[in-house]
This record gives sequence, structure tokens and C-alpha cells, in this order.
Amino acid sequence: MITLIVLALIWISFPILLIGKEDGYASAFIQALLLFYWSYMGHVYAHHASLQYPLNMINTHVSLHHAKLKYVPRWFELMIEAFNNFMGFFVIYLLQSIAGVKLFNLKLILYSAFLYIGLHIFYYSVLTDSKYHQVHHDDPFYNYSPELFDIIFNTKKYDKNYDKISLIHEAIPALISYYLVIYIFKFL
Ligand SMILES: [Zn+2]
Ligand SMILES: [Zn+2]
Repeated sequence: MITLIVLALIWISFPILLIGKEDGYASAFIQALLLFYWSYMGHVYAHHASLQYPLNMINTHVSLHHAKLKYVPRWFELMIEAFNNFMGFFVIYLLQSIAGVKLFNLKLILYSAFLYIGLHIFYYSVLTDSKYHQVHHDDPFYNYSPELFDIIFNTKKYDKNYDKISLIHEAIPALISYYLVIYIFKFL
């Protein structure tokens, strides 16, 4: 639990560094919190909405990424998944542009998207095959991630082989996402 709290502090400190001056520190904090919540709820919703045809086929998070039988190479499936994850956040920016409002700073939208991809694709899938995430693939209504939200909303499933959460593996994607956003904004 202490690890999770430290992690939450790390995850939220980068958004404050990124847009605190620009949008105000309280706003940066709230925007980041809402984006993490969006990430959790979006994943929950993606599974609940895709129980039946046609969404169970159209939603590639379910039909490809969660498929027991893989029809496509793993790297290709993970690329599609990463693209989906990215769009899951970028859609907020697109909707804001259409509506002409700005609730979320693009920097934070990108930070959240990169962080999700970094965690899910690199930490959970490529580097470690995390037990916590395996539980989600065996029973898609648990362990949606971020872990803290699974605890808050009671969707965390215990597994006796459960791996200890790795602070390094979860902090590094946040650090990389932070620098990536700074790098991208040099050109924008
Ligand atoms: Zn997965
Ligand atoms: Zn899932």
C-alpha cells in the first residue's frame, strides 16, 4: 500500500511539473486525477460494453488483445492496442477541439496516454508478463489498473502468486512520458 501511495505521488507530480505554472497547481492536480479516473473507467466500460456482438468483435481490446487464440502476431496486436490506448485519451482533445472548450491540457492528455501505453505494453506485457495483469486477462472484470483505483472500486483480485508491484517499472514510464511531452512541445 505504501508503494502505491508513493507511486501515486510520483505519477501526479509530473502533471504538476508539466502544467502547474500554466493552468495553476490545483487545476493540474484535478486534471491529472480525472484523467487517471478516465483511464480506469474507460477500461471498465470497454469490457462491459463489449460483452455482446457486434462490439465484442469491433472492440479490438476485447477481440484481439484479450483473445485466447491469437490470429495476428503479438507485436502487431500490441501495436494496435497501443494505438487504441492512445486514441482513448486523444479523443478528449478531439472532442474539446470540436466543442471549442478546453477542460484538459493537451500536455496532460498526452502524458496520460503515454503512461498508460508505457505501463500496459512495456511493463505488463513485454518486460514482465505481470501476474497482476494476467489476472485481468483470465478474468477481464478485475485488475483494470491503475492498481489504486482497483482497490478503491473493489475490482482488485487477489492471486497467491501475485507479484509485488515494482516501483521502478511503474515510475520509469511516468518519467519517460514526462520528457516525451516536453520534447514534443518543443516542436508545437
Ligand atoms: Zn493486456
Ligand atoms: Zn482489458
